[in-house]
Amino acid sequence: MKLISIIVPMYNEESVIPIFFSTLNDVLTSLPQYRFEIIVVNDGSKDQTLSLLLDQQKKQSNLVIVNLSRNFGHEPAVAAGIYSSKGDALIPMDADLQDPPTLIQAMLAQFEQGYEVVNAKRRRRHEDSFFKRFTAVKFYQWIAKLSGKITIPQNVGHFRLISRRVADRVIQLSERNRVFRIQVPFVGFKTTTVEFDRPKRAAGQTHYNFKSMVKLAIDAFTSTTGAPLMWPFTIAVLWGGLTVTSIIAMITLFSLALLTETILMIWLVANVLSIGLTLILLILALMSLYLSRVFIETQNRPFFVIDKVYDVKS
Ligand code: UDP
Ligand code: MG
Repeated sequence: MKLISIIVPMYNEESVIPIFFSTLNDVLTSLPQYRFEIIVVNDGSKDQTLSLLLDQQKKQSNLVIVNLSRNFGHEPAVAAGIYSSKGDALIPMDADLQDPPTLIQAMLAQFEQGYEVVNAKRRRRHEDSFFKRFTAVKFYQWIAKLSGKITIPQNVGHFRLISRRVADRVIQLSERNRVFRIQVPFVGFKTTTVEFDRPKRAAGQTHYNFKSMVKLAIDAFTSTTGAPLMWPFTIAVLWGGLTVTSIIAMITLFSLALLTETILMIWLVANVLSIGLTLILLILALMSLYLSRVFIETQNRPFFVIDKVYDVKS
């Protein structure tokens, strides 16, 4: 019987705990062909979350509580849950029922078809503000563009199924700046999608404010790509090109005696300054190029991930 790990980060979620467990358990009991472990990571909650979880554990032996020493944040909490899980497949989901447990069955069906990543894609996001939807769509389109060969799915958060193999690979990624929704597509493997409508939070309040959204955006961006470090080089080349054109134009017009002395002087000064600026940009570009190498080396990601070696001899 396959073991499935449900991973739930919780930070000050006392108001959703009862409804969360009743909804989740209804779904899990309808899937008797699997064993489940529910790993709740208590991310330094300051309310009654931990004691409610301990009460729940008395009724429910498949509940594992991973209690973090303080509040670390959503990403580290999910990472701690993945690290503590034993399942053949893992499903991280939010505690507030915005990631509906009813989708688990569809995800497992795809897992049985041999998919190792099953993304849960938000079909509509009416529950989010227009601002959040718009910025999220644009942002992830932009990241997807910059990310080169990695396909970053749009409108997919933490909620997805990953196989044991994918989870192990994600744990092995050594970067400190961990963004799960970027790491999973990096690791790769056979991937599919199921869709759902994201409901409103069952109770309590969101923990994401504008500041933490900006932080997530910066983390997602800088862990995906070092491409912006190439921009100073491009700018230096463009600026250098403009400067050369300007110098040639100045010399030509001067030799045709089309320039007054004042204009010539101003232009000359502008060109000399421009040469200086080009040199500074080139030095900046040089530093950026090395910095991008340092970034890639310190991120220390594997060069490739092998799915399977087909060898007739073994
Ligand atoms: N969460 C957490 N640590 C934090 C903030 C949030 O573990 O510091 C958990 C939270 O309990 C919830 C999930 O992360 O299970 C998503 O948070 P939330 O629902 O506030 O985010 P939103 O759905 O509004 O983006
Ligand atoms: Mg939520």
